[in-house]
Amino acid sequence: MLLSVIVPCYNEEAVIGETYRRLKSVFEIEQFSYELIFINDGSTDKTLALLKVLSEEDKTVKILNFSRNFGHQCAVTAGLNHCIGDIAVIIDSDLQDPPEVIPNMLNLMHTEQADVVYGVRKKREGESWFKLFTAKIFYRLLNKLSDVKFPVDTGDFRLVNRKVINQFNSLEEKNKYIRGLISWMGFKQLPFYYEREARFAGETKYPLKKMLKFAMIGLFYFSKKPLNIATSLGFFSVLLGLLYLLWIFISLIFSLGHTVSGWTSTVVIIVFFGGVQLLTIGILGKYIGNLFDEAKNRPEYIIDNKVNF
Ligand code: UDP
Ligand code: MG
Repeated sequence: MLLSVIVPCYNEEAVIGETYRRLKSVFEIEQFSYELIFINDGSTDKTLALLKVLSEEDKTVKILNFSRNFGHQCAVTAGLNHCIGDIAVIIDSDLQDPPEVIPNMLNLMHTEQADVVYGVRKKREGESWFKLFTAKIFYRLLNKLSDVKFPVDTGDFRLVNRKVINQFNSLEEKNKYIRGLISWMGFKQLPFYYEREARFAGETKYPLKKMLKFAMIGLFYFSKKPLNIATSLGFFSVLLGLLYLLWIFISLIFSLGHTVSGWTSTVVIIVFFGGVQLLTIGILGKYIGNLFDEAKNRPEYIIDNKVNF
């Protein structure tokens, strides 16, 4: 059996050496062969240089060097597109997902004949309360809104077999929300509980802006419910408007006097309707923007060069 290890790296000079050592020491005691695919996602630090040194001494180290920073999901996609293993493991380069649990995950996969074994974080060390809180809300909201059921508290740390890799590689959408897509595929998927550690060194490469973009892709690619919400809002506001019209008529007929002193209510109504319209147009715009992205049909990533492939 050949195991492909897929490691996306973006400015990880502080951890990459240690990541390599930890991965190596795990696989040295195992019987199978493996390839370590590092994707350099347009790092601006010494990540690439360090990887090149490793790849010269060790032919199991393969590098996909991107032409610029394309993002974590694109890096993982490139790894899955280029791996030749029977099983692939997707793992972050910052050692938050401990490589030492991989043999146990493999065992689970074999004994249960599973197609996917996904890591579920029991605990998350060294993460801000803001990240934990927003992540919790996001995964639960996404589950409510989406037609597919996603396991909560799951990252991309997972094992997938060749069947799943091939299916994944045949997907044509460009903005990939990988953990969602793999759940959506079905097959036999099993959770594996582990404790997520703090980053070994360096800072998070997922600032709020990237996190928001990621969440948007998850939401808008996996759910059409926001469109329903927009429609309901429009319906509700029209109803409200009609009721208000009726109220004005009644006031006029019975001269209740509300029609002259109606400045405040008019402004309130205008603001309310304006808000509903902007929100609705915004939601529509999001979907159209996604269609636009997909229609352009640009590649998800551009590889500058490959090493040891
Ligand atoms: N990463 C990447 N491209 C990016 C951002 C992140 O390849 O644009 C990699 C990063 O090197 C790491 C993984 O994706 O291996 C997860 O990133 P990070 O640990 O910064 O995210 P967090 O764990 O804080 O959510
Ligand atoms: Mg991390």
